[in-house]
Amino acid sequence: MSKQTLDFHWGKHHQAYVTNLNGQIKGTPLEGKPLADIIAAAWNGGSPTPAFNNAGQVFNHDFFWAGMSPSPTTPAGALAAAIDRDLGGLDAFKKDFAAAGATQFGSGWAWLALDPATGKLAISKTPNAQSPLQAGQVPLLTMDVWEHAYYLDYQNRRPDFIQTFINELIDWGVVGERYAAAGGK
Ligand code: MN
Repeated sequence: MSKQTLDFHWGKHHQAYVTNLNGQIKGTPLEGKPLADIIAAAWNGGSPTPAFNNAGQVFNHDFFWAGMSPSPTTPAGALAAAIDRDLGGLDAFKKDFAAAGATQFGSGWAWLALDPATGKLAISKTPNAQSPLQAGQVPLLTMDVWEHAYYLDYQNRRPDFIQTFINELIDWGVVGERYAAAGGK
């Protein structure tokens, strides 16, 4: 990911979601509440209020950046075992996670999450500002596939960005910590 992409994506796009959300909730009961509470309230049982898109995008971007590493990493420990057990191994994860990102029509996100209902890992994609939180899952990793995530570096070639993200930018140490914190075993 180039410096230019990071500067625009983090410094402009992500910042705009934060600024817009703060403006939307100023003077409302949501002002000062934890982000997770704002998202849950704004999701409104599937009939989202206007604050949902900005709140969701703030969470998704915070989560995206925190799951990235400047150098390639690999899964280890209980997380690596769960990827083998639930997803058919790391190569199968890469193929299916790439497909989730590539087939998200328009703007959205690809996810690795823990489904508390089954205790298993699950790969999914969500449109716009949604995340696995709305499905009751615990997010572990996300990849932004909005055009602003890759257009400066790859133009229309989303699959090339996806390959770079999967093979070079995932911080599997952080994903493993998130898995453990979610009670994964
Ligand atoms: Mn983005």
